[in-house]
Amino acid sequence: MEIQKELIRWYRENRRLLIFRENKNPYSIWVSEIMAQQTRIETMLGYYERWMVKYPTIEALARAPLASVLKSWEGLGYYNRARKLHEGANYVMEVHQGVLPQTLIELEKIPGIGRYTAGAIGSIAFNLRAPAVDGNVLRVISRLIRSSEDISSLQTQKMIYNLVYDLMEEGNPSDFTQGLMELGATLCSPTTPTCGDCPIQSKCQAFQMNEVQLYPYKKPKKKPISIQCTPLLLIDEEKGIVLAEEWEDGLMKGYSRLPECRSLLMKEQSVYLATKKHVFSHRIWNMDIYYQSPYLGNLEENWQWVSFDDLAKVSIVSAHRKIIDEYRGKLFERVL
Ligand code: SF4
Repeated sequence: MEIQKELIRWYRENRRLLIFRENKNPYSIWVSEIMAQQTRIETMLGYYERWMVKYPTIEALARAPLASVLKSWEGLGYYNRARKLHEGANYVMEVHQGVLPQTLIELEKIPGIGRYTAGAIGSIAFNLRAPAVDGNVLRVISRLIRSSEDISSLQTQKMIYNLVYDLMEEGNPSDFTQGLMELGATLCSPTTPTCGDCPIQSKCQAFQMNEVQLYPYKKPKKKPISIQCTPLLLIDEEKGIVLAEEWEDGLMKGYSRLPECRSLLMKEQSVYLATKKHVFSHRIWNMDIYYQSPYLGNLEENWQWVSFDDLAKVSIVSAHRKIIDEYRGKLFERVL
């Protein structure tokens, strides 16, 4: 198992010093892996440090109100991850007395922990032979074997999972998993891999054939859906701002938004401020932003005043918080 030995040796000598790798505490690994999904390491580090101060144990996280957990997550995006971490912590308290179980089957029963996260916790913390195959690992392996299968297909991912499992046959699953992750996160980057420094270069078929840029093969993605929306600023210097809670699209539950300027009449009574775009993973909000005096009509059922003092305590979708921050001062200073 040359590949495994080379990778582990390289990892031990070259690994980055990351705070969540300082110990093999399974809860730390759980939190860091969830935070690192869809988020750059440099971005999540500050969040991770603050999180571990505020919720140092599974028990502390489980006991915290969901609203404050969501607040701690604000700005990281993909908010369902925070909701699931909280739900998962409560599950571990109830079923495992606050201690993460040491088998893949039990780990995968925890809300928010799927095959990848169970593999990461299982192999890194408990030294189990449990592959953790994320996008980085898929890229490394697809280059290693010159796989021309679509990397987004489940079948390809299963094939790579099995291959990584075979590679974990002997030795140290913890360091092997981290080595593979580290190689994908550093040298074997998507666009500019540093193959000259790679510990498994001699085994890498894509490198040998001078075809690294062709892998992994991906079918073209669908374009994100574009959605037109009309956030409305109902704002008063004394009372604060009107926010709404329930939404027909069911997205980002638990987060408040600006009300929507729905009707033609409302638009006629309002002042158009600007058009802005906010890009999510699968959709784009094209926002025509309006301002209206809050005293023109009655507030709708799910609309409510939030004082400026309380604004920081409320979880608000980040696209709308940016609008509030930008226009609040301008509206009062009449600079628009
Ligand atoms: Fe990635 Fe290059 Fe190493 Fe192959 S040789 S695994 S492409 S860094």
